[in-house]
Amino acid sequence: MQLEKLRKILTENGEPKFRLSQIQKAIYQDGVSDFSEISTISKNLREQLEKEMKILSFEVEKVLVSKDEKSLKALLKLADGNKIESVLLSPVENKWSVCISSQVGCPLNCGFCATGKSGFQRNLTAEEISDQVLFWRQYLKKQGTVNSDQEKNPPYPSASATWQKQNLLIKERGVISNIVYMGMGEPFLNWEEVKRSLRDLIDKDLFAFGSRSISVSTAGIPEGIKNLAEEFPQINLAISLHFATDEKRSQFMPINRKYNLEELKKALKDYFSKTNRQVFVEYVMLSGINDSEEDAYALSTYLKSIGNRQLLHVNLIAYNETGKELKASSGNKTHLFRDYLERGGMSVTIRKSLGQEVEGACGQLAGK
Ligand code: SF4
Repeated sequence: MQLEKLRKILTENGEPKFRLSQIQKAIYQDGVSDFSEISTISKNLREQLEKEMKILSFEVEKVLVSKDEKSLKALLKLADGNKIESVLLSPVENKWSVCISSQVGCPLNCGFCATGKSGFQRNLTAEEISDQVLFWRQYLKKQGTVNSDQEKNPPYPSASATWQKQNLLIKERGVISNIVYMGMGEPFLNWEEVKRSLRDLIDKDLFAFGSRSISVSTAGIPEGIKNLAEEFPQINLAISLHFATDEKRSQFMPINRKYNLEELKKALKDYFSKTNRQVFVEYVMLSGINDSEEDAYALSTYLKSIGNRQLLHVNLIAYNETGKELKASSGNKTHLFRDYLERGGMSVTIRKSLGQEVEGACGQLAGK
């Protein structure tokens, strides 16, 4: 939400200082999605705000819900017509993680990524980034209070008929416990706006998330890793590594030609010396590409060479197939890969694939 505009309206109206806090609480913490629902302010002010402002900086074009209702993806239309995606996942009962986008498209063009293929349009503003969390908070609130009126008039009229039907199935309300900057875009290439959005997410008067419940994922921009360590040492860092040799990484992730594995290693060593915090290493399992024993050896060797092995945690991620060329590794292969890493003393988790039915790979929906 455009807080500056809200502040300006309240100042021009001569409203007392606490009015801003009342409105912020209703919107950011209670998940109110319409100014008309804020009962703590006057009717005149409610009407003025409704006329002059919007709570969200985008329109919700579509929400897809998986059959198990644990993965949802929203297609959001920005004011300039560009579209982005935001994903809500529930790996644990009644706890939700929001995966947010930081750019429209992405300039890094990783070979396995639908967003990369769609090219780069522009950076998102801080509002457009944090509003994705606001939207899901509103959404969960609506699910918790769905009633027969809403069954006749779903909250988002433009949603597809399938969604409207599925939408009503989610009666259980839950809380957002994690935010990950892992949607469309490279967050460290939009650092100024990402930084503002992080401040809003941890601001006690706004979203009030704990720093440790937020993670920023990068394809490996050393300057960004340094900035995160210095400015937000309590926020989690995740590295989209995916390949442990320069040859393979440069083939699938062009950013590696600019910042190779050695550069990334230096940045991580520096990160550890400044924060002593755990780093998550994301590794998407691609059949016949990076899932052999040799690849596991290369990964293990690379991670050990960084030092601070106890602070590195590897997440093996099932690949959401976006085209015909690349296939996901089999479950058996993934288990063997994990076992190999564990024998070498690495801490490893196999991440369940959530979101395939909702075209969970980033950029699959917006790219259509
Ligand atoms: S994987 Fe991430 S960094 Fe690579 S192109 Fe896709 S969005 Fe960009």
